Amino acid sequence: MCGIFGIWEHPDAAALTSLGIHALQHRGQAAAGIASFDDAFHLERHASLVGDNFTKPEVIARLSGRRAVGHVRYPTHGSAALERNIQPLFAELSGGGFVVVHNGNLTNAALLRNKLQKEGSIFQSDSDTEVILHLTALSQQEKLVDRLVDALGQVEGAYALVCLSTKKMIGCRDPLGVRPLLLGDLDGSPIITAETCALDIVGAKFVRDIAPGEMVVVTEAGVESIFPFPKVRSRFCIFEYVYFARPDSVVEGRGVYEIRKRIGRELAMRHPAIADVVVPVPDSGVPAAIGYAEAAKLPYELGIIRNHYVGRTFIEPEQSIRDMGVKLKHNVNRSVVAGKRVVLVDDSIVRGTTSLKIVKMLREAGASEVHFRVASPAISNSCFYGVDTPEQEKLMAAQMPEHKMAERIGVDSLGFVSLDGLYRAVGEPWRGSGRKVQFCDACFTGEYPTPLTDRSLLSKELPA
Ligand code: 5GP
Ligand code: MG
Repeated sequence: MCGIFGIWEHPDAAALTSLGIHALQHRGQAAAGIASFDDAFHLERHASLVGDNFTKPEVIARLSGRRAVGHVRYPTHGSAALERNIQPLFAELSGGGFVVVHNGNLTNAALLRNKLQKEGSIFQSDSDTEVILHLTALSQQEKLVDRLVDALGQVEGAYALVCLSTKKMIGCRDPLGVRPLLLGDLDGSPIITAETCALDIVGAKFVRDIAPGEMVVVTEAGVESIFPFPKVRSRFCIFEYVYFARPDSVVEGRGVYEIRKRIGRELAMRHPAIADVVVPVPDSGVPAAIGYAEAAKLPYELGIIRNHYVGRTFIEPEQSIRDMGVKLKHNVNRSVVAGKRVVLVDDSIVRGTTSLKIVKMLREAGASEVHFRVASPAISNSCFYGVDTPEQEKLMAAQMPEHKMAERIGVDSLGFVSLDGLYRAVGEPWRGSGRKVQFCDACFTGEYPTPLTDRSLLSKELPA
């Protein structure tokens, strides 16, 4: 998961991009980068939060020019620490410099890289995004847009991109539209970004969502749109609504906060509990807990307090550090839960690390019962499109049935929202099995919308 932002022809391009990616910080905390262009390209990349470097006047001053793109990185592919993996990625193509920021994850990048390397391409990073640069460089087409189309025609998986060349800013969404991308406008300066919260922060207005398979080309002549790929049924990531997007964003025409509250109502209906209080796991469980409490007519209380000065738990790749992270992040508000029957609401169970710790904390603080309600169906399949749900062996729901999960986590009852409940909450009719799926829900169902080329190669050697 990553956050991307691009702005065209504005005197404060870099500063606005810094604000934009700051608003998207929830999408990735491992690194941040901005590239700008005036007569030359300027690039700043740091393995830190946006606020750590991109608020410094000297950094913004180095990013001169009226055009800029930025990225916050959540490492789903390539080593997190490696500075060369931090985006924007830059290449000097035959026609001039070219910058890419990417949200999503390609599913055939390893195969393509192997082939390109054997043909002589020299890679700078181990990021999947870099294959897009090489394929663009190698394309025999004349115009940059056609070269990029040529390149993207060869990749599989999920991508929302913003690219900057010497003459253009290009936004593109993969044909399935797995990741969000939209067009905004700040006093006539076009913006391409992932979520509406990035428009709000700079005071820009929302123009429209960029459609799956659409390429938006911004030049001095204006904004142009093309649909260069064969049309397929779109499959937007439903987990964006559950977890990834910020609750104040409107994603694909739907308000994220309202959806999360509706998921909470679905949970209250389907999994009621005799309880005294509804407590969210902050922040991700908050809207669903509010919805649950409203529907169940139970008091909503902040029984767990979050320390906001630590990143998301998953950011530390080591399990031991991740375990510590949960404690650094949450503490029980004892007076709220002591002696109470608690409905605990979180958005998802991935490895089970968070829930295990939090339930233990609640018990230690004297909660008499804990009824855990989860605002997504059980995640039993890895995501290959940019959400960091790990190898299937590490997913708790892939390892054991629900009653065992309840036992392991140590709760009196456990309830997940159903898949049809989730679809209802998002506002889409559920069509049962054999349905015409309009989302990617592979993490719940295992129905992947693309081939998983690299994964099927994993067991075999890449061709020598
Ligand atoms: P667990 O502790 O079960 O491994 O993870 C569940 C917690 O992680 C939930 O509180 C949820 O909000 C959060 N979560 C779910 N998916 C992701 C993800 O892809 N990345 C990050 N950073 N957190 C996630
Ligand atoms: Mg959470």
